[in-house]
Amino acid sequence: MVDMAAVENAFAHVIERRHLRAVLIKDADAWAALYGELQDAYTRAFATAAQEALKDALDRMRDLPPGTFGQADATHIMGVLEGRLGAEALSGLVNGPVINLTDALMRLGAAEVGTSVGVDIAFGRPDFDALKLIQKDNLHWVANSWNARNNTIFRKALDDYFREGMTREQLIQRFAEEFPALAAKGKVYFELLADTAATKTREMGRVTGYERAGVEYVQIRAHLDHRTSEICRNMHGRVIPVRRLSDQRDNYLDAVRRGDVLGAKDAWAWQGDKAAAKLQDAKTKDIPANIASPPYHARCRTITVAYLPTSGAASEWERSTFDREPLSRKATAALIEHCKAASWRDAKSMANHYDKHGKALWGTREAYNAAAMDLIRRGDRDVYLSVRGGRLKALFVRPGASARKSAEFAVVDVIGQDIETLHRRRGALSTPSDDVQAIKQPARGITKWLSK
Ligand SMILES: [Zn+2]
Repeated sequence: MVDMAAVENAFAHVIERRHLRAVLIKDADAWAALYGELQDAYTRAFATAAQEALKDALDRMRDLPPGTFGQADATHIMGVLEGRLGAEALSGLVNGPVINLTDALMRLGAAEVGTSVGVDIAFGRPDFDALKLIQKDNLHWVANSWNARNNTIFRKALDDYFREGMTREQLIQRFAEEFPALAAKGKVYFELLADTAATKTREMGRVTGYERAGVEYVQIRAHLDHRTSEICRNMHGRVIPVRRLSDQRDNYLDAVRRGDVLGAKDAWAWQGDKAAAKLQDAKTKDIPANIASPPYHARCRTITVAYLPTSGAASEWERSTFDREPLSRKATAALIEHCKAASWRDAKSMANHYDKHGKALWGTREAYNAAAMDLIRRGDRDVYLSVRGGRLKALFVRPGASARKSAEFAVVDVIGQDIETLHRRRGALSTPSDDVQAIKQPARGITKWLSK
C-alpha cells in the first residue's frame, strides 16, 4: 500500500527545495532586490493614490459655489482624500506585493541561515502560521498609515488655509501648489515603513532558519561606522540564545494575532539613543527580553549571524567579553598565564613597533621586548579585554602617575598569543571602531601568587 502522507510530504519537500534554490540563486543580490521591490510597491502605490487624491480633491473644490471655504467643506475634502489614501484604498493597492514579498523575504532570511550552516531549511506548519501573521502585520501598518499619520498632515494643511480665511479659489490654488510637498512627506513615511517591514520580516525568517537548522546561539552584527546608532553599537558582538529570539518573535506575533498594537510594540521594543546608552555596560543576560532581535530602530542595518565559538579556553574569555562581562578571578589568572607565553609575531613586526614607539623610550630592542614581557607579568598593572577587528585582545596597562601622564600599554592578541605592541600614550583604551570596548578584569595582585 502507498503511504499517501509520505508521498505528499516528499513532494512538498521537493517543491520547497526548488523554491529555496530559486531564492539562493539571487544570493547576495536577493536582499537588495526584494527590499527594493517592497519599497517600490509601497511608494508607488502611495504616489499613485496621492495623485488621484489631488485630482479628486481639486474637482470637488471646483464644484463648490464661490465664496469662503467653511469647516463643512474641509470635512468634505478630507473624506475625498481618505477615499484615495485611507486604509482600504492603500491596502487594496499593495495587498498582492505585501503578501508575496513578505513570503519571499521570510524565506530569504531562512535561506541565508541555511546557506551559512550548510542545511536546507524546510518550512513547517508553524512557519506558515507565522508567515500569515507577518503578512497581516505588514499590511496593518500600510492600512494604518492614514489614521496614524497622513490624515494629520493633510488635516493640518487644510486647517491652516482655513484659518487664513481664503476664498475657495485661493484655496484651490494653494492646495494644488502645496499638495506635492505634503505628498512627499507621506512618501518618506512609506519608505520607512517598507524598510521596517523588510528588515523585520527577514530577521523573523532568520529565526526560523536557526530553529530549523538547530543553531542555538547567534551573534549580533552591527554595521560599524559613523552612522551606527547607540543601540546597535551596544548590542554589537553580543551572543544571544536563539530561544530568546524565538520567544520575542512569539510574543510579537501573539500580539499581532490579538490585534494588540501596543503589545506588539512592547514585544519588539525600539530604543532611542538615550535609553540605549544605558545598555552600554549591561551584561547580555541583564538586557530586557523585548530587546533581542534586530531591527532595533528605523533604518537599522544590524543583523544576526550563527555564533561559532572559538575552541579551547579562549572561547569562554571571548564569550564573556562579547557579553560585556569581566572574567572571574580564576579565569583571569588563566588568561594571564596564557598571555605570558605570547611573543612577537615575527622580528619585522617587532622592529616596526620598536621604531615607531619604542626607540626613544627603551633604547634597544632587547629592552623593548623585556619591558613588554615585564608589563604582562608584573602584578601592579591592570588587565583589560576588548574585541578589535573581530579578535580578542588583552590589554596590559600601567596607568600614568596622574590622568595627564601617559600610560604604558602592551596589547596581546589572545588567540594568536602574539604581542602586538608596547607603547606609552595618553587617552582612551578603546576607539569607536572596536567591536567591544575595553572591559577591566579582576587582575591586580593575581600574578604574584601565580609566579611563586
Ligand atoms: Zn541599527
